[in-house]
Amino acid sequence: MPADTLEDLGSRTRGPLITPGDADYDRARAVYNAMHDRRPAAILRARSDADVMAGVDFAREHDLDLAVRGGGHSAPGYGTCDDGLVIDLSEMRYVRVDPSARRAWVGGGATIGDVDHATHAYGLAIPAGFVSTTGVGGLTLGGGIGYLNRSLGLTCDRLVSADVITASGDRVTASRDQNPDLFWALRGGGGNFGIVTAFEFELSPVREIVGGPIVFELEAAPDVIRSWRDHLRQAPRELSAFFGFHRAPPLPFIPEERHGDNVCLLVTCWTGDPAEAEEAIGPLRAAGPVVGEMVGPMPYPVLQSSFDPLLPPGCYSYWKSDFVRDVDEDVIAAHLEPGGRAPNVHSGAHLYPLGGAVTDVGPEETAFGTREAGFAVNIVGFWPDPADTDRMRSWVREYYDAIHPFSGFDGGYTNFMDTEDASRVQENYGSAYERLSRVKADWDPWNLFHLNQNIPPAA
Ligand SMILES: Cc1cc2nc3c(=O)[nH]c(=O)nc-3n(C[C@H](O)[C@H](O)[C@H](O)COP(=O)(O)OP(=O)(O)OC[C@H]3O[C@@H](n4cnc5c(N)ncnc54)[C@H](O)[C@@H]3O)c2cc1C
Repeated sequence: MPADTLEDLGSRTRGPLITPGDADYDRARAVYNAMHDRRPAAILRARSDADVMAGVDFAREHDLDLAVRGGGHSAPGYGTCDDGLVIDLSEMRYVRVDPSARRAWVGGGATIGDVDHATHAYGLAIPAGFVSTTGVGGLTLGGGIGYLNRSLGLTCDRLVSADVITASGDRVTASRDQNPDLFWALRGGGGNFGIVTAFEFELSPVREIVGGPIVFELEAAPDVIRSWRDHLRQAPRELSAFFGFHRAPPLPFIPEERHGDNVCLLVTCWTGDPAEAEEAIGPLRAAGPVVGEMVGPMPYPVLQSSFDPLLPPGCYSYWKSDFVRDVDEDVIAAHLEPGGRAPNVHSGAHLYPLGGAVTDVGPEETAFGTREAGFAVNIVGFWPDPADTDRMRSWVREYYDAIHPFSGFDGGYTNFMDTEDASRVQENYGSAYERLSRVKADWDPWNLFHLNQNIPPAA
């Protein structure tokens, strides 16, 4: 791309345009997952809708690959590209809260931590993910799995409206009343349909929670899984808990001699009356011998960010994802062997419960693929040293191969899919896929927004 052509874009934007000669180019091109070491022609740090419009027009007119970056967390590194233009929304992280209307307006590049910080001040929250550095942009557009799903639904279920810069460079609002087809697609269909510069969310009262991890002996895994599954079936929606296989992290609540041992765990979150927390969480603690636990009252944002230090940016990661209808004996048996050899303290496999409020929303109401699944499974290899890449990827693949035959679903959760699974997009959406491809044809007939789990426009 000739320098004077890029200068033309720079002259039309307020946010900085960073190109290969610039001192902060290497920092600006980096995304969270170090597997994706790409060299874009330019990174536009947009500061406004006008900047985003200029970037979109420029990419379309010059036939450039266009990467859109919210929090930069996508496992396949969709927030960067080689030779193209990156529109980086990280300077659009404002959060404005109207506590009386229980609404928040959130910039397209905000992180979960930004939203939690702003809404917690009013004792309000949205359901979001388990790591606070994740972008609200990608999280919401793909669905949004986190602690509050059973009580409040997916993140995308709390979306009221979105300001979208479309592939033609226009700005539209999508909501139930305005451009409802686009609004439907934005709630689960990923970044295919335009760049969301502002999300409007409905907030719910959540301030202090009781929760945290309970780490069990690995051998107890079958009993822990059964107790957890059965307890959640009848527990109030205010209780959430996900199950995981890990190595014990080097944290003070784990005896030092156990650091690094293979274990299993439950991470709990009770948003109901604190006086009833023990009744809700206690039966989970009794599921097996406990290595260590850190369950207690805490502000909701503290739980949301408690795993951040184990998952710093700049490491290597590789993911695979599945849904499963129920955790029956075949599913448990399939998880035990690969789960028991999680390869380091950063890596692990989780089973996240859906159900509850997730199924209050009808399967056709949003584009999110599989609401009838009881659980979403995520297998994440995460490592700081590139020499470990083959070993880590093998573990994730072997794990997935062991469990997938018992899934009952072809696809998985779009936000947990890595590059290798881009071919599963149609399966991820099932019967919603055709409608998504028609909406795509209406809003992005050129497939300008193709660096995502891509849904090509219908012919
Ligand atoms: C450490 C870690 C923890 C995670 N935990 C969870 C979790 O608990 N629950 C969960 O559901 N997911 C989780 N995820 C997955 C996460 O939801 C996806 O990776 C999501 O895509 C990240 O969004 P992002 O904006 O940070 O990523 P980016 O890489 O910036 O973007 C991801 C995709 O969304 C598009 N996009 C982002 N913002 C916008 C926008 N404003 N407008 C249009 N398109 C946009 C991008 O173009 C790209 O295609 C986690 C990921 C990581 C790395």
